[in-house]
Amino acid sequence: MPAHGSIAYQDKYSSLFLDATAIGGVIVPIAAVICGVAAGLGFVDRSPLYSSPLAIAVYVIFVLLAVSEYLVKPSTPLRLGIFIGLYHAVSIAYLIFGTGILGPFTLCWVVLTITTNIFFGRASAALSLVLFTATCLFLFLVEPVFSTETAFQYLMYMSIVVISSLLISGLLRVQVVEHQDLERSQTQEHLQRSQLTTLINSIGVAIVSTNKSGTIRIYNAALLNLLDTNQSLTGKKLEKIINLHDSSGEPVTFSSLTHALTHQVERDDLYHHFDDDETIRLNIGAAPIRGKFSSGSNQSDGFIFIIRDITQEKSLEEERNEFISVVSHELRTPITIAEGTLSNLQFLLDNKKDVTMLSPALKEAHEQILYLANMVNDLSTLSRAERSVADAPETVDIKAVCEELYHRYHAKAEEKGLALNLDLGHNLGLVVVSPLYLEEVLQNFVTNAIKYTRKGAVTLAVHRHGLNVEFAVHDTGIGISKSDQKRIFEKFYRSEDYRTRETTGTGLGLYVVHKLADKLNTKIDVESRLNHGSTFSFVLAAAPNETPAESA
Ligand code: ADP
Repeated sequence: MPAHGSIAYQDKYSSLFLDATAIGGVIVPIAAVICGVAAGLGFVDRSPLYSSPLAIAVYVIFVLLAVSEYLVKPSTPLRLGIFIGLYHAVSIAYLIFGTGILGPFTLCWVVLTITTNIFFGRASAALSLVLFTATCLFLFLVEPVFSTETAFQYLMYMSIVVISSLLISGLLRVQVVEHQDLERSQTQEHLQRSQLTTLINSIGVAIVSTNKSGTIRIYNAALLNLLDTNQSLTGKKLEKIINLHDSSGEPVTFSSLTHALTHQVERDDLYHHFDDDETIRLNIGAAPIRGKFSSGSNQSDGFIFIIRDITQEKSLEEERNEFISVVSHELRTPITIAEGTLSNLQFLLDNKKDVTMLSPALKEAHEQILYLANMVNDLSTLSRAERSVADAPETVDIKAVCEELYHRYHAKAEEKGLALNLDLGHNLGLVVVSPLYLEEVLQNFVTNAIKYTRKGAVTLAVHRHGLNVEFAVHDTGIGISKSDQKRIFEKFYRSEDYRTRETTGTGLGLYVVHKLADKLNTKIDVESRLNHGSTFSFVLAAAPNETPAESA
């Protein structure tokens, strides 16, 4: 095993074991010295070599090495290698010049081999045992007296050291493999958990998990967004955080949602009231969590709630439904009139009767068809604006657009005895907007002004004020009452004024204008006085890098 791998491998042992080897590294040499001194004093039967100055020098080096190793714990593989090498060298010297093989210190070689195994792997441990065996053989060969009994003792000591080292190393190996497996599965679990957390946090829908009694255990970032808070919600009751009510204002508890819950349920008729009185509509999906031990029973370990803010979705849906119902209602009358007139005409023609009597009815039917055409026109403009069709901005020449409108409606105004005026300021320049939307808005104002003016004039005025261009359509018409001014941009709204009712109209024109103005990033301004006339105006930003002089 390579050194770096072994250092990592060392880390896998419990610190208790490492401390034990470090303490052993001190105790063993001290024990060896005591052993040597005892031999030197004659308590143990061994040659006078034990008490020789060389043997004493080896003891001192041994003890110094051990103490320094204990005090300065080696941390790099190099330092460790040096220490273990020195230990081997000193141990060999100690065995040769000190106690010899047939003494208790010999057994301490087991500690040396195991330590080598821990830090430098099996190959190094094998080398340690080879060194030990070589030392034994050397000492056996230099024994002054050869006897079978001595040979047997040598063999016994060698076997004890080698077999114990192999057995303990084997046990440690099993422990390390188990430890590595455990760590690998912990890393895997940690990775899966962080992947799951990232996934849940990146979901835009609020997800929250509670225990059986509704205490929050896990939640994602979307829940904090939904509740507009950045406080930790863990450990709080979901009921206390989300103030649920049904459409009639009756409080709804989460426990009523999860009561006897065996499978997923979903409700979209619930509301959450914020402290500042704001209310949002929620879609809540609840599902029981079934753990390993609850499977097979109806008991759950908790619940998962998936919560979505559907306020906008629902109001759009309701608006769309209402719109469809009003449109179908508005279409019914003209279609009935046109259909009735055409069927009468058919009847008279089939019976070869005079059809001139149907002339007024035909006129009315024609008007109703025109009304339908206008409505279809307005609806398709509205649908285009809502789908953002043709809203790509282009550079529009203001003067050209206004002149074109003037030419288109000049004759129509004259037919009604009205003057259509064009009041264009100097240096109008360009604007960058959707040309279709701009034209649609101006055309609506001009046609309304002509429609709701009995005498006088209609003026399309465009003037530049600094970086802005102001568009305005003035008329000297019937005017709009203050109360009507608040409602004319609503869909299908037409004034109750009898003069308005004399004209045909869908009540959709200004609603469409309002939507288009949003697209043009502007706001419509209305100034009107009943019987004096009206002015509809809005402001657009002039095209950048366009100096008035250039556009002139
Ligand atoms: P329509 O003209 O088809 O009725 P609009 O949405 O264009 O629908 O206008 C809504 C209402 O606003 C009109 O019915 C009318 O009462 C009022 N209105 C709009 N423009 C003028 C105007 N220039 N003068 C007076 N009333 C107007």
